[in-house]
Amino acid sequence: MKIGIYPGTFDPITHGHTDIIRRSLRVFDKVVVAVAPNPSKHPLFTLTERLDMIRIVMKELEHVEVTHFDGLLVDFVQRFGAHAIIRGLRAISDFEHEFQMALMNRKIAKQVETVFLMPSEEYSYLSSTIIKDVATHGGALTAFLHPEIAHRLQERIRSLKS
Ligand code: ADP
Repeated sequence: MKIGIYPGTFDPITHGHTDIIRRSLRVFDKVVVAVAPNPSKHPLFTLTERLDMIRIVMKELEHVEVTHFDGLLVDFVQRFGAHAIIRGLRAISDFEHEFQMALMNRKIAKQVETVFLMPSEEYSYLSSTIIKDVATHGGALTAFLHPEIAHRLQERIRSLKS
């Protein structure tokens, strides 16, 4: 069984992430969405909240597991017996950072491959950061987020403003 690990911050999960997960399921028998706590990025949502939101969005999808990891990603990948790391590639701006990470991970664990997938064009400009900006300024979120995630994001921003 081919297992792919899709790591990220998912603060919060967007249709861009979901698009990558759906595409990964065409290549892998099972996809493990692995949330990194990433406190240095000062996430808007706690780790538990992010996991909970991903589980809501993934409810209908089979062969997807949602979990979290601490420490080195390659250690997690090897412990899990997975075959590859999955990353999404948007515009050229993602490339340099992703290239660096993939080569660093290969240096640490040479048998761990990284697979890059491109999202549908309509999501290729989408990031959790941009979505948080749009939400802060009261923009519509339904084209980018699952309705429950849009609701939670609006609530969180409202509570931060008050
Ligand atoms: P990280 O902090 O690890 O970059 P993110 O949650 O921002 O975590 O992203 C996780 C992965 O999903 C990354 O590979 C990122 O490039 C990819 N990704 C995020 N948004 C999109 C999108 N709209 N289309 C394709 N890939 C995306």
